Amino acid sequence: MALFEHVQEPAVSPRPEVWAHVSDEDWNSWRWQLANRLNSVDDLARIINLTPEEIEGLQAQDMFRVDITPYFASLLDPNDPYCPIRRQVLPLGREKQAFTGMMEDSLAEDQHSPVPGLVHRYPDRVLMLLTTQCASYCRYCTRSRIVGDPGVTFSKAEFEQQLDYLRQTPQVRDVLLSGGDPLAVAPRILEYILSSLRAIDHIEIIRIGSRVPVFLPQRVTPELVEMLRQYHPLWMNVHINHAKEITPELSQALARLADAGLPLGNQSVLLAGVNDSVDIQTELSHKLVRNRVRPYYLYQCDLVEGSGHFRTTIAKGIEIIEGMRGHTSGYAIPTYVVDAPGGGGKVPVGPQYIISQAPGKVVLRNYEGFISTYIEPDDYDPHMIEHLDRQVSKPREEPGQRGVSGLLRGEALTIKPAGFDDAHRRRTEKHRLNLDTAKWQPHGIGLVNPSITDTGMYGKVDANVSEA
Ligand SMILES: *Cc1c(COP(=O)(O)O)cnc(C)c1O
Repeated sequence: MALFEHVQEPAVSPRPEVWAHVSDEDWNSWRWQLANRLNSVDDLARIINLTPEEIEGLQAQDMFRVDITPYFASLLDPNDPYCPIRRQVLPLGREKQAFTGMMEDSLAEDQHSPVPGLVHRYPDRVLMLLTTQCASYCRYCTRSRIVGDPGVTFSKAEFEQQLDYLRQTPQVRDVLLSGGDPLAVAPRILEYILSSLRAIDHIEIIRIGSRVPVFLPQRVTPELVEMLRQYHPLWMNVHINHAKEITPELSQALARLADAGLPLGNQSVLLAGVNDSVDIQTELSHKLVRNRVRPYYLYQCDLVEGSGHFRTTIAKGIEIIEGMRGHTSGYAIPTYVVDAPGGGGKVPVGPQYIISQAPGKVVLRNYEGFISTYIEPDDYDPHMIEHLDRQVSKPREEPGQRGVSGLLRGEALTIKPAGFDDAHRRRTEKHRLNLDTAKWQPHGIGLVNPSITDTGMYGKVDANVSEA
């Protein structure tokens, strides 16, 4: 049965001529693969016909690290410079071109790190960077400011700082291991981190974000998977951008992980010339779900140095989601997100489906353009749920992160940019009409939370500035 051939047969990808002499034992060894990575014009010219711009990229100084496992290199089309796999790992001269909006740390991760390597941006989850090393390096790496330097990675002392911070931060229930690639870390260290995290009661789930199954499926050995499954609930996100990456070797690695009970997701990056098309994304999604991988996020390419030529418009991402939603299974559709520059976190973006609204009616359109009306109940009582709501354990929250949901919960009426009140005072003294700040606060009549004394989420309205 052709449909399942990847899953059932221990098939292998064809190996280029230059590696014909390598024993199967070496080829299937992750240590051999790592030790024999390709990174120079000489290495790569042996397996593909390099273009002048690729040669320029490989010879350039001060460029982000190049290193490609022989296995992944064997997937490059030797004669097609537009090969989507080739574009992900082979540098081009144009990587050096600056572009408007380019930054070193476009997600302001270092600014949101309470200790080195730990990014705490959201209330209940953190990103924990275990290493700066990867099995191979993606040209559009969002963390190229720290990733790839063979001399600099995180130390044991820094792991201890990260773990200490987590022990003291009970609102964190989800820890996302990333890097670099957490599966590129020595197995003993990875296990030390996993067991240390598991020893922290309030950490409910651990996630691993890894591209090792893609670059180095040989690393996903039965022993590694056996170790990982000791630390459930453990989830894993892989990073596959194009269906051509899903080889028999990767399928087998994914099957091992899924069989060990790790729920698998995929995060891909929308890349010009690699996967910026509805059909390519749909094919990728279909192949992912056949391998028990749920498409999770499709990222808009970050504003990071080196990635200029990979960027698409956001409109392209919206067009892709338009081409998928309704046309294929809901679980095959990723959420398209823009990771907001400056550290705003992931913002989901997609087509609009609400056409219009009136009291009691919502007008919706579907993927076919069929327009329909949902009649809302006129006797819906949102307070009916309150006694059940009180029985639910409340999240361990940090102050100041309720955001727009906080407005809906009635905890505040406005969210103001820093300096808003000062700016609107127009440098004037308080006068008789604006001394009484209670005027622009609700009287509390009929509010869910009548105790609002503060109309702004981030900082009190300074009612008492009136030393004047
Ligand atoms: C992406 C990310 C997370 C996880 O976000 P989810 O939407 O929960 O997958 C957590 N922390 C940081 C800093 C992130 O960038």
